[in-house]
Amino acid sequence: MQFIDLQRQYVQLKDNIDRAIHNVLDKSNFIMGEEVKELEKKLAEYVGVKHCVTCANGTDALSLVMMAYDIKKGDAVFVPTFTFYASAEVVSLAGATPIFIDIDKQTFNISSVDLEKAIIEVNKKGKLKPKAIIAVDLFGLPFEFNEIKNIAEKYNLLLIEDGAQGFGGTVQGQNSCSLGDIATTSFFPAKPLGCYGDGGAVFTNEDKVCDYLNSLKIHGKGENKYDNVRVGINSRIDTLQAAILIEKLRAFEEIELELRNKAAESYNFLLKEIVQTPYIPEGYISSYAQYSILLKEEEQRNLLQDKLKENNVPTMIYYKKCMHEQTVYRNNPSIYRKFENAEYVSKRILNLPMHPYIQGMEIEQICNVIRGVYNEVI
Ligand SMILES: *Cc1c(COP(=O)(O)O)cnc(C)c1O
Repeated sequence: MQFIDLQRQYVQLKDNIDRAIHNVLDKSNFIMGEEVKELEKKLAEYVGVKHCVTCANGTDALSLVMMAYDIKKGDAVFVPTFTFYASAEVVSLAGATPIFIDIDKQTFNISSVDLEKAIIEVNKKGKLKPKAIIAVDLFGLPFEFNEIKNIAEKYNLLLIEDGAQGFGGTVQGQNSCSLGDIATTSFFPAKPLGCYGDGGAVFTNEDKVCDYLNSLKIHGKGENKYDNVRVGINSRIDTLQAAILIEKLRAFEEIELELRNKAAESYNFLLKEIVQTPYIPEGYISSYAQYSILLKEEEQRNLLQDKLKENNVPTMIYYKKCMHEQTVYRNNPSIYRKFENAEYVSKRILNLPMHPYIQGMEIEQICNVIRGVYNEVI
């Protein structure tokens, strides 16, 4: 059994994907081929924003946002402590300071209560200038949109949605990657919408920001690549990846998002009496980048992971170490804050196999092992 079975997906979509790849090979338009523009148009339509600017990966997408909004030394950017490192790393790389925020105990997303506390603290200290919030759609669940948006407006902060795991989720019908002032996503193969290598995108409704991003991602180009008007980076998506993504987006829309939710429902049904299953607030839909359960104690979680491994069920722990616990942030000014919920969750969480093509029988098998272990020892 695979944790995320990409091969099974390829077998399903093989004819279309092979054709798309060969089309690109025939034309040999490997950089900025027409598929890139087509993909950007389709992604913007799906998400419901005016512009999509693709780039080389989800981390660059966030870095391009840092550059486009001139986030720099002396700025404070509020980031949940329970996330993948890239969400914080891009802030540090830009020279700004990430201020870590605890998570909500139920959704595992950035806590609006702790966020407001931290903004007030930073303002009081007066050393850093509060500039932006990076709200992550962790495991596919969109962040608490109304609460976080209100805080961003109240304190005049840029709201950046890190939708690397969130693509496909919705809040009251509004799509993930359209929830911030600007949003990013990743097409790393294991993400809800993944390609066959690296890829990423930025979403914006602002024409000017779109133009700026298109320049920044190609060496700060002006009229063309050899007219350089600002310092940028080299961050394009390959035409091959764009062609693959066009096919994958179709499957995602037609069936895969639904299959992910069906798999999650099966897990929920079989597990809800024995462990804590994912909490999805009223009006929210998750794209289930991950399906996570929460155990009562760390030892139980570790024991269960071992038993599942013995039964050939691969699991992961996202995330064992929060950002405030990382060596790189040992001198960060916010590590002395309290992160009770994030620490609680990181010790007890376990991520189970999840992908659109997981079978009901496999889910039953996984849940039987969990039930067996639970009855025996937990
Ligand atoms: C994967 C991920 C990223 C980075 O995406 P890459 O394409 O791997 O660079 C950023 N933020 C979060 C929350 C992620 O899960």
